[in-house]
Amino acid sequence: MNKEFAGGYSAAEVVTLFKRRLPALRRGLLRWFATHQRDYPWRKTENWFHLLMAEMMLRRTRADQVVPVYREFCKRYATPGAAASARPQTFARILQPLGLAWRGRQLRDTVHFLKDAYENRVPAPADDLEEIPGVGPYSSAMLRNRLFNEPIAAVDSNVARFVCRLLDRPYHAESRRDREVIELANRFVNSPRSRELNLAILDLSALVCKPRTPRCSECLLAGLCETGRRSASQS
Ligand code: SF4
Repeated sequence: MNKEFAGGYSAAEVVTLFKRRLPALRRGLLRWFATHQRDYPWRKTENWFHLLMAEMMLRRTRADQVVPVYREFCKRYATPGAAASARPQTFARILQPLGLAWRGRQLRDTVHFLKDAYENRVPAPADDLEEIPGVGPYSSAMLRNRLFNEPIAAVDSNVARFVCRLLDRPYHAESRRDREVIELANRFVNSPRSRELNLAILDLSALVCKPRTPRCSECLLAGLCETGRRSASQS
């Protein structure tokens, strides 16, 4: 096993080791992203309201299921005000393919809140986005990164697993809330290309660094990742 990540290091030592590898990790990730990124309509929008709606629709739902619903929603409602004035039946019909009745209610609550708080302005960096109903740390991080290019990673369970594997740390269900994992993911995206890096981590961790069987032999980061190195030495 590579001595650097052989375990027994303090949190500060892990950070130092991680920092040393960051430039190469970022370069590898951006190279991979240039040809493998997933193409979703919410990645191209400049409308922050639509971006937020997409993030809420994507919860517990596959992206390919969300795409047509998102398109229909955006075609009809350009602003929170437009969505808030929609007939409840129409709103429910558009969201129906996503299932999960609670989501329709949650989206309506969010839309009404946004109409009052943000109808005529986009959020500012000082705004607390987590005060918006239905917005938690993940969606807030995604929005802040996209809107203000803040170096904040959107850490879902895939990203948390990816970070843990890079550092050969145990991964568990609560890792995405682990302060150190979040801090390391944030360091990863702390770059002028923060937006791309954020999306790149999400895509690589979903498509290559898969939950059960990571495809280390196809991964550009394998030489920099302890899990990838171990996998290569065993094959
Ligand atoms: S080398 Fe393997 S474990 Fe490491 S990031 Fe790539 S796919 Fe994940």
